[in-house]
Amino acid sequence: MGLIVQKYGGTSVATPERVKHVARRVVATKQAGHKVAVVVSAPGGTTDHLIDLARQVNERPPAREMDMLLATGEQVSIALLAMAIHKLDHAAISLTGAQVRILTDKVHTKARILEVDRRRLDRELSRGNIVIVAGFQGITAEDEITTLGRGGSDVTAVALASALGADVCEIYTDVEGVFTADPRIAPGVRKLDVLSFDEILEMASSGAVVLQTRAAEYAKQYNVPLHIRSTFSEAEGTRIVEERAMEKSRVVTAVTHDRDVTKITIAGLPDVPGVAHRLFSALAARHINVDMIIQSASRDGKADISFTVSSADGETAAKVTEEVSREIGARGVHWENGVAKISIVGAGMVSNPGVAAKLFGAIAEEGVNIQLISTSEIKVSCIIDAAEVERCVRAVHRAFNLDRL
Ligand code: ADP
Ligand code: ASP
Ligand code: MG
Repeated sequence: MGLIVQKYGGTSVATPERVKHVARRVVATKQAGHKVAVVVSAPGGTTDHLIDLARQVNERPPAREMDMLLATGEQVSIALLAMAIHKLDHAAISLTGAQVRILTDKVHTKARILEVDRRRLDRELSRGNIVIVAGFQGITAEDEITTLGRGGSDVTAVALASALGADVCEIYTDVEGVFTADPRIAPGVRKLDVLSFDEILEMASSGAVVLQTRAAEYAKQYNVPLHIRSTFSEAEGTRIVEERAMEKSRVVTAVTHDRDVTKITIAGLPDVPGVAHRLFSALAARHINVDMIIQSASRDGKADISFTVSSADGETAAKVTEEVSREIGARGVHWENGVAKISIVGAGMVSNPGVAAKLFGAIAEEGVNIQLISTSEIKVSCIIDAAEVERCVRAVHRAFNLDRL
């Protein structure tokens, strides 16, 4: 008998019919002889709706109250799923993050999980219950409710699987696994049977929302085996495992894109030591994660720095940058949301010269200008005009023959 953690995303529990379908899948796993802990997201669209409600009342809602509101979405799903399982004559209990004691830090709306207390989970599982836990939420040491950032139910699932030493953490979603590009925009995408933790982490952090970045990080850190698969089919999905020897033969594994990008440029910075430190430590103090950074060559003792942040942080980041700009006597700050990031990811890239050139070539052939570039051992990313991103994803997918094996 094993222990399996299953996570069902918002689209999988969007209607009563789907909740019943999920209940049947969960019960089937239990009947196969496993202990089952389930994590669910809010019904599809609920979190967006709650955010919209908040904005109608206050365009800058306090983060603590935002978490109080957003945490209700998942509570709807856990209760409904438990009811649906009871209807199938199986024992189930729903628990909020606070009831489990999923302990997080205090950073409201993007809290990090510090620890999962397994005592209540163990107790319920040993009573024969299917345990259903609200994703995306936790509690601080001061008993404040927190949420884990958009898509955060994935992290809850991985953290639970790690705490319980689960045999596998299954992420059930609306596609059959991880593909060579977002199946919604690129024709001819292929499902990837297996990926390394590093590859999924790079894909997630460059925009493949099929797994949240923090969840990929957590899975890699604690070596939690993942299986990303469809709620609506029995087909085998994508397994995430430790690095394999064979993957080196795959130069480029996938193309990803991210539209939630804000590009900020601070112009005419005095080109003296300590300026970058001042800017980026001010952003870090506000818990803003900076992605790409580029500094122009110095002209007359002045330089420009452009960087990107996720668009959820765009406005705050621009404000912080404007404050720093005034303090250090820069010329000014410009920020825009109309950009997107396109990336190629692949563990074999590191030993294959010319990969980046081929990416730039494919984008150039589409007549699209590249605004920023960043590279790592297994990823190359470019910032381009958001309106061109889908076309470029398709072109790059073709250029690297990702539609073929
Ligand atoms: P859930 O609500 O189940 O968490 P998400 O919407 O967060 O689902 O993630 C699933 C979506 O991820 C898919 O519908 C797909 O459009 C998107 N996606 C983006 N890139 C990829 C990729 N490379 N492979 C699979 N899905 C991807
Ligand atoms: N309900 C949350 C969101 O929409 C968390 C999740 O779906 O994972 O972002
Ligand atoms: Mg998700």
